[in-house]
Amino acid sequence: MILQSSLPSDKYRPQSHDEYTQQPDKPEEACGVFGIYAPEENVAKSTYFGLFALQHRGQESAGIATFEGKKVHLHKNMGLVSQVFSEDILNKLSGTIAVGHNRYSTTGSSHVVNAQPAVVETRLGPLALAHNGNLVNTSELREYLQSKNCDFVTTTDSEMIAIAIGAEVDSGKEWLDAAISAFNHCTGAYSLVIGTPDGLMAVRDPNGVRPLVIGTLEGNPIRYAVASETCGLDIIGAEYLRDVEPGELVWITEAGMASFHWSPKPARKLCIFEMIYFARPDSIMHHETLYSYRLRLGRQMAKEIPTEADIVIAVPDSGVPAAIGFSRESGIPYGEGLIKNRYVGRTFIQPTQHMREAGIRMKLNPLKDVLIGKRVVLVDDSIVRGTTSRKIVKALRDAGASEVHMRISSPPVTHPCFYGIDTDSQDHLIAATKSVEDIGKQIGVDSLVYLSWEGMMIATREESDSFCSACFTGDYPIAIPENIKRSKLMLEKIKI
Ligand code: SF4
Repeated sequence: MILQSSLPSDKYRPQSHDEYTQQPDKPEEACGVFGIYAPEENVAKSTYFGLFALQHRGQESAGIATFEGKKVHLHKNMGLVSQVFSEDILNKLSGTIAVGHNRYSTTGSSHVVNAQPAVVETRLGPLALAHNGNLVNTSELREYLQSKNCDFVTTTDSEMIAIAIGAEVDSGKEWLDAAISAFNHCTGAYSLVIGTPDGLMAVRDPNGVRPLVIGTLEGNPIRYAVASETCGLDIIGAEYLRDVEPGELVWITEAGMASFHWSPKPARKLCIFEMIYFARPDSIMHHETLYSYRLRLGRQMAKEIPTEADIVIAVPDSGVPAAIGFSRESGIPYGEGLIKNRYVGRTFIQPTQHMREAGIRMKLNPLKDVLIGKRVVLVDDSIVRGTTSRKIVKALRDAGASEVHMRISSPPVTHPCFYGIDTDSQDHLIAATKSVEDIGKQIGVDSLVYLSWEGMMIATREESDSFCSACFTGDYPIAIPENIKRSKLMLEKIKI
């Protein structure tokens, strides 16, 4: 088995994060994955657009691998999808199968060498793997692979999964048996798209922590696409077929689609934060758009927390559906009070000191006419560190709001995530160290209320035990070994 390391320079490498653009202090998304099996299609271009729709899930790097017979073509680099690929590059990525990835680094640092897809050469030809999630047994898996004399190029758990499958193939197994054997050495969250010369695999861990959906292209039974979210299918005109089930491996070849339930104990624990915030509101989970779920979160908040006010506004964009739901339930009119600069991405130019002091304005600007003299309900989906909330509240008061009542459409985030979302270490989570009252004082609001855990679950209209909500409860559905309760750079530390 030979590893194909990454390719071009990291000249597009973005700033680490994001003082400059005043990004809200939200948990960082994990990754977006996309795959397509479509003889006669331009698979690279479809993958490009699939990744484009999934850009919100990861903005540090992007990559596409295509399969042309036994040959793999790979391009990946630091930056947004639109920065990493040009028409020329896409034209060189020919083939009938493609795998794509948008990355935010949750394990391994932000370097091009860690960009995905991870490609390894095996006895049966190359394999390209795109991973969304995080393994929690990386130390164990690394030791296991080292005992088999496997080499590593990167520091990611994703590469280890690719290497584990490659090692099984090289020991004589065929693709499916090799993959299933490798998954039995993996513990944690993984939604995977794996390309091979013979077909495309779509896989979810036994708990289905991260989403993964399958679609068909023009109803053709041998042309399929898989994506982290349905918005990745919509953009290429693919029709949503179904979710990949927890503990399922879907194998798409010229014979069509086959399904293998490889885990003896699948038990769905979908990340509830995907529903509250990470996934796009137009994506479908549990048979409805997340916009509808988020509206219900707002309604539920208004039921739990009657509030006297003149106007309900949102922290755009993620707070908008809950704010509308709150308004509909409470009867308090909804309005726009903050205008978002939609063209703020990451910038390489540092703002002046004066601009930094102006706070949030590079990204959000208050509408003075709407706010002046008003008692405002400000709705957001979560508070993680609290730094941005304080700046927003100050901007609203400076614009003339007479009262600011903050309402959060999820419970306090008190625990870090180990399943592929960067929620920071526990000591940086404001709700882990402060009471709600103290948080309210710190961010400068007249009142602060979070939605209850029960309310968040009622709004799902599903059984609460089919979700992971560990960052609100500390009740981790997949056990976290003590030795990995550390920073996201744990693999690099182990190496040192
Ligand atoms: S800990 Fe929180 S962010 Fe992580 S998977 Fe569970 S619900 Fe999602």
